[in-house]
This record gives sequence, C-alpha cells and structure tokens, in this order.
Amino acid sequence: MMKCDIITLFPDLVTPVLGQSMLRRAREKGRLEVVVHNLRDYTDDKHRTADDHPYGGGGGMVLKPEPIFKAVDHIRDGGEPVRLILTSPQGRLFTQSLAVDLSRETRRIVFICGRYEGVDERVKEGLVPEEISMGDYVLTGGELPALVIIDAAVRWVPGVLGDPESAREDSFTGPLLDFPQYTRPATVRGLSIPDVLTSGDHKAIQTWRRRQALRNTMSKRPDLLENGSWSEQDQKWLDQVRREFDRSSGR
Ligand code: SAH
Repeated sequence: MMKCDIITLFPDLVTPVLGQSMLRRAREKGRLEVVVHNLRDYTDDKHRTADDHPYGGGGGMVLKPEPIFKAVDHIRDGGEPVRLILTSPQGRLFTQSLAVDLSRETRRIVFICGRYEGVDERVKEGLVPEEISMGDYVLTGGELPALVIIDAAVRWVPGVLGDPESAREDSFTGPLLDFPQYTRPATVRGLSIPDVLTSGDHKAIQTWRRRQALRNTMSKRPDLLENGSWSEQDQKWLDQVRREFDRSSGR
C-alpha cells in the first residue's frame, strides 16, 4: 500500500488522472491512497495568495514558503511519518530503481509541486525534501512529475498489475529493454507476426524473446549492455547481433 499526498496549486490537474485506468484500480483495491491538497487552502489572506514576486527582481513568480510549510504541518499532524519529495529539475534523476524503492515506502510520500519560477529556497532549507527530477528539461509545474512518479511506483505494489510477471520483463527492470509485443490480428496491412509466437513452443518463444530483447537493447540503448552480466548463450547472441549490425552499417 502506497500512501501519498500531493501539494499543488492545481488540484484539478491531478485528480482526473488518479480517477482512470490502473491508478483508479489501485486506489479501489486499497493499494494506493492519494490525498490532493490545494495549496490555496493553506494561505491566510483574503485573496488566497500562494505566489509572489521574486526578491531581487526579474520576471516570473515564486511559490510562497509559508503555505507549503503549513500544508506539510497539516499532513504531519495526522501522526504518520512522512517522506518529503520536491519535484525539481535540479533533483536526482528519477529511475526505475527509485520507483521500486518508493513502492516499498511505508511512510506517507508527500509531493510538493512547484510552479512558475519554482518554490522559495527556504522550503528546501526548512523541510530538507528529496529533490527528484524527471529529466534535463524544464516543465511548467511539478504535477505531471508527481503523477509520473506515482504511476511508475504503483506498478511495483503487489496486486496492482494483473500479471506481476509483466513488470519483471519490462525495460529497465533488468539490464535489457523489453522484447517486441504483438496482438491480434496475425496480419495487418500486409504486416505479419513472427511465426514462433504462434508455434505453441514455449521454450522457443522464450528464446526468441530473449534474443529480441538483446537485439533491441543493442540497437537502441547499447549503453545499458555495459551493466549486465551475460550467460554464455546471451554472449553468443550479442556477438551475433553485433556482427549483423556491423555488416548492415558496412563496417
Ligand atoms: N526555475 C526553476 C524551474 C521552475 S519550473 C529551475 O530552473 O530550476 C516550475 C516547477 O516545475 C518546478 O518548481 C518543479 O516543481 C517543476 N519541474 C519543472 N521541471 C521539472 C523536472 N524536469 N523534473 C521535476 N520537476 C520539474
């Protein structure tokens, strides 16, 4: 069971996503709890101001610190231990292993979503949250990152995916990208599927999939192959695929 809080100026941006497909099912099955907190509810002026101009001038707005402190206080008042996450392009890059780690978290996971130019630096000093980044680009807010993190983590909570095996074979779980997937019909627009998949020979299918995963990884993300340890058979296939690639690139 993952328990999360999202502190945001735009609750309507996150709640619809939580109400669809797998996230919805995870919540209905009691595997995921998400409480969305409107940052404006923690302001104390008539206009419910959650942002202000930056000290030192320059454009844009900055999220005020006090409403964020108050929202976190409110969550802590519930008495459960918390793990604080600030979504930020300056943070540690989000990865599959961090997703697995969060899926096992027993504390409440509290996401602070920045907006505009970001949050007042004293939020970091006062709360010392983990800063987590989606990648080396800048988004307009931390809401999509919070949803991405929850989505990637909840797949690892037991009972969320119909078939837990499928998560184990996904890209980034081991050192390999996934193998190609096909569904019906067997032919579409003149494109057919590999014969082995309808052979009923499970051993042959396993072998084909492993080989395709190695092939996929070598062609799209050869950097990942540096971290793996390979069976003798894998090594043979890797050498084979490498020779094929060398040949097709004329080397
Ligand atoms: N001025 C800030 C960026 C602010 S973007 C800087 O350059 O560091 C506004 C908010 O969007 C951020 O506070 C953060 O919560 C979110 N955000 C933007 N890009 C992100 C990324 N790559 N990963 C995670 N959160 C991001």
